[in-house]
Parts: sequence; structure tokens; C-alpha cells
Amino acid sequence: MTTAAIIVAAGRGTRAGGDLPKQWQDLSGKPVLAHTIAAFAGQVDRVILVIHPQDRDRAAGFGLQVVEGGATRAESVRNALDWLAGQGVTKVLIHDGARPLVSATVIAAVLRALDEAPGAAPALQVTDALWRGADGNVTGTAPRDGLWRAQTPQGFRFEAILAAHRAHPGGAADDVEVARWAGHRVTIVQGDEDNMKLTYPQDFIRAERLLRGRDMDIRLGNGYDVHAFTPGDHVWLCGVKVAHDKALLGHSDADVGMHALTDAIYGALAEGDIGVHFPPSDPQWKGAASHIFLRHAMSRVAARGYTLANCDVTLVCERPKIGPHQAAMRSALAGIMGVDMDRISVKATTSERLGFTGREEGIAALATCALVRA
Ligand code: MG
Repeated sequence: MTTAAIIVAAGRGTRAGGDLPKQWQDLSGKPVLAHTIAAFAGQVDRVILVIHPQDRDRAAGFGLQVVEGGATRAESVRNALDWLAGQGVTKVLIHDGARPLVSATVIAAVLRALDEAPGAAPALQVTDALWRGADGNVTGTAPRDGLWRAQTPQGFRFEAILAAHRAHPGGAADDVEVARWAGHRVTIVQGDEDNMKLTYPQDFIRAERLLRGRDMDIRLGNGYDVHAFTPGDHVWLCGVKVAHDKALLGHSDADVGMHALTDAIYGALAEGDIGVHFPPSDPQWKGAASHIFLRHAMSRVAARGYTLANCDVTLVCERPKIGPHQAAMRSALAGIMGVDMDRISVKATTSERLGFTGREEGIAALATCALVRA
């Protein structure tokens, strides 16, 4: 079984404004058609592009089989079907070049439906009331029962749609109409509101917004650290000096909370941990304040185009009491990280006197963070 997609992009439609036909206009930094073609990559065995003869140079960069369109959309589709004839294609999807946001889900649903029916196409049930209007006034209503808004890709068993297009007298609104004219059943599969056809300038604005949403990347990281107690009179926790009858033993200032948080951030970026960036074997980091590590991790967040959505640090110890210092710790971390305090949580728990933290041999810290790139 071989599947093919015909992307119809031969129109000269300029209702979208601008000098170029809409399928060649820029959408989020590349032509609309580049998005449309990318949507079919890996979904079908081959992609055929139907273009206007004047667009040959523009289309060359896509590296696809190009077929020249005709005077009408139907003629353009028939040219592509004729070109594919005799090449063993069993299922063909016919798609508007100006629908760049078609999802893999919709494409797969149409292909799957062709196992049961000779034709299948996505559509959305009409849910708004329908009116007739003239001169800016409502002149009547129309029943919406059984009405659907048609989308593409419209899919067909290849030989059926090829024969139908060759025999059809012309003037059909779309390929479903051609198939039905030839007596083929066409199944409706669930369409997608985002699978919009770019027609007007405001459609480009909406499509860019949707694409930005798709590009959003969310990354989570976690960190864990432990430092042992040693004789002393204070500990550093989350950037705050806390009086205590012991100190924490460590290569730097042993701020176990800030270390866990820093590791969480490196983890979210998949950039190792503190030890990778600040090797304990390097004497220059001996006794270094932990904010140096945290600042570095945050600089990596910015360099990679992310922002910190939130972080949450849990300190595990019987003593010292963390509650009285919680706000100061959040404030200190906010200052170092350059984010609002409401994105930073510091909390504490005991381990019910169990284990090394329960025996007050040391303090453990866990941290989680979320990074977002929009
Ligand atoms: Mg540490």
C-alpha cells in the first residue's frame, strides 16, 4: 500500500493581502506552504505539490515532486492525479496548501477511514445559528441540523477518485463533491478547529498565535542534595544565614537547599549538575558562595531561551526550624534568580526522627523547577 498527499497550491488568492499569493506568504518565519508540507512529513509515502507555473522557482527549495496546476482547482487536482496514475498509489489525500495547521491526528483519521469507505474527509458540525442577511440586517434564519463545515485533507482510494475526476464535467466545490457525483460514499471524520484555511489577514494572526502555542516547550527538573553536620554556630540555607548549634560540612558554603535547586535547573536543561560546571577538584571554587552556582544556572536558562515558571524547595531536617526564615529564603532566592517571589517556594519537613536527618547527622534538600519557552 502506498499513500500520497497532493497539496494544492496553484491559486492566486490575494484576499489575505500582500503581493504574494497567500500560500507563499510568511507565517512565523517561513512560507505557509512550508508548514503545510511539514505537516505531512512522515504521515504519507509521498507528497506532490501542485503549483502555479510562475512559482516554480519558489517551489524548488522544497525538493518535492512538483506538478503544474490548471485554470481551476479541479483541473489542478486532476493534473496531480494523472501524474500519480500507474505508480501504485492506493490512498490519496488532497489538501489545501493554505491549511498549514492540519494535525497528524486529522491526517491519520482520514487515512484510517479509507479502510472502510472509498472516501473520507474531516469536517466540523455547525454549532452557531445560521442567518440570512441583507444590507446589514438579519432577514431570516436557516436550520443548521445536519450541516458540516468541510475541511481538508479529503482522502480517497486512488483509482476511484482518479476515474471520478477524469469523468466529472467540472465546477465542483471540492473533491468530495466529485467523488459523490461518481457514486462513492464519503465518511466524515472529526475535523479540527485549528485546521483553518488562511484567507484573510486576521487568519494569519490567529495562525501565528496557534503556532506559538505549539512551539511552547515546558521542561521539569529535580535536584537532591545532602550535607553532613560539623561543629559550628550557623548554617546557610537558601541564601540565608541561620544560627544553629552546628554547621554544614561542604566544599563551598554547603547551602544544601540552593545546591538542590541549582541541580534542578541544570536538570531541566539536561545540562548536568553543579559538579560538571564547578568541579570540586578545582581550588577556585573552594568556599565559593552558592549563589554563584545558582546565578550560572539561571544564565543558562536565559541563554537557552527559557524562563523559570516556578520552583519548589523542600528542606528535610529536625532542626533548625525553617518556618521563621521561609520568607527571607524565598526573597533571597528571588533576588539571586531575578524572578518574582511568588514563583519560589521553600518549605520544610522533618523525617519523624528517622534516618540520618532524624538523627540530626545532616540536612537533605529536594527541589523541583519548571522552565518554559514560549
Ligand atoms: Mg551540595
